[in-house]
Amino acid sequence: MAGKRDYYEILGVEKGADQDTIKKAYRKLAMQLHPDKNPGNKEAEEKFKEAAGAYEVLSDAQKRAQYDRFGHDAFTRGGGGGGFTDAEDIFSHFGDIFGDLFGGGGQQRQRRNRNEPRRGSDLRYVTEITLKDVITGIEKEIEFDTDKNCDECKGTGAEKGSQVSTCGTCGGSGQVVRQQGFFAMASTCPTCHGQGTVIKNPCKPCKGKGRVAEHRKIRLNIPAGVDTGTRLRVATEGEGGYMGGPAGDLYVEIRVKQHNNFERRNEDLFAELSLPYVQMLLGAEIEVPTVTGKAKLEVPKGTHNGDNVKLAGEGLPSLRGNRRGDIYFTVNVQFPEKLHKDEEKLLREIAKARGLNVTSEGGFFGKKK
Ligand SMILES: [Zn+2]
Ligand SMILES: [Zn+2]
Repeated sequence: MAGKRDYYEILGVEKGADQDTIKKAYRKLAMQLHPDKNPGNKEAEEKFKEAAGAYEVLSDAQKRAQYDRFGHDAFTRGGGGGGFTDAEDIFSHFGDIFGDLFGGGGQQRQRRNRNEPRRGSDLRYVTEITLKDVITGIEKEIEFDTDKNCDECKGTGAEKGSQVSTCGTCGGSGQVVRQQGFFAMASTCPTCHGQGTVIKNPCKPCKGKGRVAEHRKIRLNIPAGVDTGTRLRVATEGEGGYMGGPAGDLYVEIRVKQHNNFERRNEDLFAELSLPYVQMLLGAEIEVPTVTGKAKLEVPKGTHNGDNVKLAGEGLPSLRGNRRGDIYFTVNVQFPEKLHKDEEKLLREIAKARGLNVTSEGGFFGKKK
């Protein structure tokens, strides 16, 4: 390269400068000249490369010694000096000294291209159903708001026939680097808001956003047997894709409303049942409420207080398979509030037959008579 400037001059250091001084000088220069801070500035870019070339040589003791002896000629024949093509190259080369300044070199620079097709987000929707719905299954219509690509501009945000151009502030990187005291802070470009592109004539229907709101209404089949927390995936009913990318999925989360009488344990249901002591002792067939209607329950002879009496097949269906659970009625003994005259007479006979000592007819006071 003709007219190459002296490496020491480029970095602004003395010939005998030590490594630390060279490193500091380069760091300072690199931050001033960094392409993110000087978007579209060709001169700054050239100087940035120039400084990197100088630093590469002067930071390496062997190369520096050769340079000191032979000048630029030291590297004209296949030597290692200053062959950087762009800022990216420089970063990969000197990543370590930029590491703490630019958020680890490589990673931050891998900005997602906003104009590439991208899948829409998954959406979550919570819906409440009743226990009866769990038995029968239910078709529900659900409505929600999301967005999708604007049809008019195909998501570019630019009016038909107009162009999307690279942002001049950040040079398309979507980020700008500001010096804050000793630190260089990378932040979202204020001109393009991180997009890397700017639109001169915004598309009217979407106001240049490339996205339009969408009110979605879908019919959803909730199968029998679901439980609170069951998630149903509805493919491609999520947020619309970007730039022709596929739509996300919709996840419908089920909540089953608490029932007044029945408590759920997997496929089985539990309920309390008050029964007259006579029916518990003698057994009975009684009518009981179920989730969907009524059913006959066989109470076995000699049922005790707190026993669970099973009503088979009236519980909930299983999500997989046809088997239905059962209902268990937990029996609470029910005594009459007041005894009938003849009822008391019969009970006294029972007491006598069983040889049980009971309070006599007029109560304790009567006994004293
Ligand atoms: Zn549009
Ligand atoms: Zn920008």
